[in-house]
Order: sequence, then C-alpha cells, then structure tokens
Amino acid sequence: MTPRLVVDKKVCGGAGLCAAMYPERFRLGDDGLAEALKSGLTSPEDIEAAEDVVGCCPTEAITLLGLDEDEAGDENDGEDED
Ligand code: SF4
Repeated sequence: MTPRLVVDKKVCGGAGLCAAMYPERFRLGDDGLAEALKSGLTSPEDIEAAEDVVGCCPTEAITLLGLDEDEAGDENDGEDED
C-alpha cells in the first residue's frame, strides 16, 4: 500500500498547524477542520515530512497509514525501549 495521510476530523482542533507546515498535503476545509489533500506519499522526503506533521499535531488527529511498521497498528513492534 502506498503510504498516505488521513485526518480524523472528530479530534482535529482546526488550528491549522498541519496546513502551515505542509501546505502541499493539508488544507483547512469549509468546516474549519483539516483535510489531507493528496493521498499517496511516494518519496522518502514526502514520508519524512509527513512523519514530522504527524508528530506535531497537538490533538494527534493525523495518521500516516501504509508504512510497514504501522500496518498492524502496533507501535512497539516487539522492540521495547526500557
Ligand atoms: S495540526 Fe492537527 S489539530 Fe491542527 S488542524 Fe492539523 S489535523 Fe487539525
């Protein structure tokens, strides 16, 4: 699956940080909430920028889908950081 960004509008606060950081991929819709503009992230630079935005969203409304390590929805993936 090509990695892609999705926004959960139920938790988006609408401050627009994502659209400011990454205007090629996000905009604020008429409802004042963020929307992911393009679906597929094809380059390593795209994915790196997407990961930055995911980490900066104050309400954790953005998800990056389709990366191998996120596919199962298990962030630890068996690697403990004790
Ligand atoms: S950064 Fe997060 S909370 Fe802010 S507009 Fe974007 S998706 Fe919504």
